[in-house]
Amino acid sequence: MKPRVAAKRVTPKAAPRAQAARKRSAAPLIGKLVIFGVGLIGGSFALALKQKRAVRHVVGVGRSRANLLAAKRLGIIDEIATDVAAAVSDADLVLLAVPLAQNAAVLAQIAPHIGAKTVVTDAGSTKRDIIALARRHLGAQFSRFVPAHPIAGTEKSGAKAAFAELYRDHELIITAEPETDARAVAKVAAAWRMAGMRINRMQAAAHDRMFALVSHLPHVVAYALVGQIAGYKDAQHLLAHTGGGFRDTSRIAGSSPEMWRDVCLSNRDALLQALDDYMAEFERLRGLLAANDAAGLEARFSGAREARARWLKLK
Ligand code: NAD
Repeated sequence: MKPRVAAKRVTPKAAPRAQAARKRSAAPLIGKLVIFGVGLIGGSFALALKQKRAVRHVVGVGRSRANLLAAKRLGIIDEIATDVAAAVSDADLVLLAVPLAQNAAVLAQIAPHIGAKTVVTDAGSTKRDIIALARRHLGAQFSRFVPAHPIAGTEKSGAKAAFAELYRDHELIITAEPETDARAVAKVAAAWRMAGMRINRMQAAAHDRMFALVSHLPHVVAYALVGQIAGYKDAQHLLAHTGGGFRDTSRIAGSSPEMWRDVCLSNRDALLQALDDYMAEFERLRGLLAANDAAGLEARFSGAREARARWLKLK
């Protein structure tokens, strides 16, 4: 005889309720995501969320039709927006991942149309600028703008460069303002956590000074180094004989000039200070070299090498 299995009684009234609860629990974190700028950063965000089934529908808005078509073909977005107003009016989350100089126009375009519950966030490399722009354009809706910066990237750009693992085990910095809605922050943090990031918070000014030093300055240095070598008459000959040192130091000079032009201008004051400090350090090294000060040079190089070893241990 078959053992009797105690079945849970579902009354006709409870059935639709249970169904609704099941539907709710299976609902993705984000229903509709609209991405402005489906490049490395925006595209990788979409792919990471899709991999975790954390988003139901992704709409892409872009400047280049060819890039958007590639994004659709690669399964990064489900739809290319034909009407931006309609796209953002019922969006759960809008991500701005365009070159920084485009943010003002995008914010002006979406401000009159974003839904009452839509959360807007960005992934830009500088934070004071976008906060000022969002405050100006979004008005009363500014509380649902969450400024954020994923500390992950490569020197490649465009949808074809996007990959789901870009953010795994990296840091996301949120620079919320006093007015920023805590639920909006929680939503944005949850989405980036799904993409594999750990979340940190700091003030926008502290963020901009920090990244002027550890990110924007190194990019200017790489562009300057390659520009200098390429400027010599015998550049072809010089570059034909480069080794690992030049390759490693110049890697980020392969980054998008448009993006880095905008980052530099957007963080101008902090970057100018960083460059002044860098030039002072250069002058110090030049002085030691000019004076044939072997011990002085070795001490500076040793100090830097030890600092780098300590930094690598922290990583
Ligand atoms: P990307 O060039 O790969 O992508 C930017 C995309 O924006 C392009 O597809 C471009 O066609 C599109 N675009 C340009 N103007 C637009 C407009 N007005 N409307 C809609 N789309 C537009 O660049 P990325 O590396 O993905 O960088 C995007 C943002 O992310 C930048 O603001 C940058 O500061 C930030 N960021 C970049 C990195 C990095 O290492 N690449 C890291 C962190 C943050």
